[in-house]
Amino acid sequence: MSSIWWIRRDLRLQDNPALGQACAEGSVLPVFVFDPVIWGAAGPVRRAYLVNSLRSLNEAMGGHLIVRSGNPVDVIPDVAAHVSAQTVHIGADFGPYGSARDLRVETALTNQARSLIRTGSPYAVAPGRVTKSDGTPYRVYTPFFRAWSEHGWRSPAADVTPDWLAAPSLISEPLPEVSEAVHLPEVGEAAAHWRWHEFAQTALASYDEGRNRPDLAGTSMLSAHLRWGEIHPRTLLADLNDSPAHVVFRKEIAWREFYADVLHHAPATARTWLNPKFEHMEYESGPQADEQFDAWTQGRTGYPFVDAGMRQLLNEGWMHNRVRMVTASFLVKDLHLPWQRGAAWFMKMLRDGDIASNQHGWQWVAGSGTDASPYFRIFNPVTQGLRFDPDGDYVRRYVPELGALPGKSAHEPWDHPGLAVDYPGRIVDHAQERDESLRRYSAIGEDKAPLPKSD
Ligand SMILES: Cc1cc2nc3c(=O)[nH]c(=O)nc-3n(C[C@H](O)[C@H](O)[C@H](O)COP(=O)(O)OP(=O)(O)OC[C@H]3O[C@@H](n4cnc5c(N)ncnc54)[C@H](O)[C@@H]3O)c2cc1C
Repeated sequence: MSSIWWIRRDLRLQDNPALGQACAEGSVLPVFVFDPVIWGAAGPVRRAYLVNSLRSLNEAMGGHLIVRSGNPVDVIPDVAAHVSAQTVHIGADFGPYGSARDLRVETALTNQARSLIRTGSPYAVAPGRVTKSDGTPYRVYTPFFRAWSEHGWRSPAADVTPDWLAAPSLISEPLPEVSEAVHLPEVGEAAAHWRWHEFAQTALASYDEGRNRPDLAGTSMLSAHLRWGEIHPRTLLADLNDSPAHVVFRKEIAWREFYADVLHHAPATARTWLNPKFEHMEYESGPQADEQFDAWTQGRTGYPFVDAGMRQLLNEGWMHNRVRMVTASFLVKDLHLPWQRGAAWFMKMLRDGDIASNQHGWQWVAGSGTDASPYFRIFNPVTQGLRFDPDGDYVRRYVPELGALPGKSAHEPWDHPGLAVDYPGRIVDHAQERDESLRRYSAIGEDKAPLPKSD
């Protein structure tokens, strides 16, 4: 008998329970569907990442991948009928769009007397599994982390040797053309494992110290590999011990799991404020707001740390967590724009763009999310730069106009007129906008709300 392995967020052959289930039934047809809804929303770096990763996976499968484009609700049942597959195997998707789509595909398959079988997920512990003793979901990270750790997770799944189905009458569409101009690291399953081993040997032992510095290689840079399932978090967790640095790294993996859990229980928060009172805050709109938004997207706000991050995002589709927090804070608290606007730009541009981590990372910064940053924590883009990029190396790397400014002076080009040629002036005055932001937060009563429990 043959079955279909429908690939979505698990672009890997190792430690893949859904593929394992498919193999247990006989020969396997690997299928990827380019859904115009998802593909249409992706920017050039994200597209290039996906296509390169699929190319690498296809090579590892001896060229057996079948690529289709269209609505999976039509395409998957069509392909299943073509090869007479009784079952379609997937790793479960817990995002609002993906889970609703899977239900529709399941109905279409059931109508043809076929079945959709979900095995595993992109998480060590599937969203919804860890709840409080009364069965309600956690809204605060620290108790979630405790319960998640106690729950535990499976060991990596055993390796399989798939018997790929050759279906000569089924011709794959070519992979879409993508921009050659984007800067990507190595992608694919082998690259993900290589990166994990390299990080484990060089920076993991000092991760608790080094993880806040965007000018240094102190973090794993595994987020896109995890996003596309080129490596599973189980594989990482299995290698960790209880040293302080490893515990901090495990806690970061748990943030990803926490946000997936929060979104699973409150799917509308992909678009709306988790704390509904933030809907009534005063936000900017109109031509000036649009102009400032554009300056932010293009890395031309006049604040070097913000601009370096936004230009890194444009060029590489990635940003360090510290810089994500500072650039997001600038959009929400200096430009007074709703977090959704910034989050949509990040989702389009990030190669690791993940609906749960992104939307809830943004809501944390905006103060409307779980365990949110308190309303008065307004990142100062200059002092953040001086603190976390003390020699200015990070900003000079991404903002060439600041190349003539030595050391930390790159963070304050306005103090060195004539050296920062062609670099824009500041589009807003941070001190003024900070006060304005506090006023808007007070107007919705945030200054009277109890402070969130911190980690
Ligand atoms: C506004 C904003 C938007 C974000 N958008 C995304 C996104 O779309 N996709 C995404 O994967 N992460 C997102 N993050 C979280 C975090 O910035 C990235 O996961 C991290 O920078 C990736 O770099 P790394 O792999 O080197 O992380 P490391 O520091 O090496 O951490 C290891 C892994 O833990 C997870 N992780 C670490 N920090 C977080 C966090 N705060 N929240 C959730 N997971 C975390 C990631 O999977 C990461 O790869 C966002 C954070 C903010 C503040």
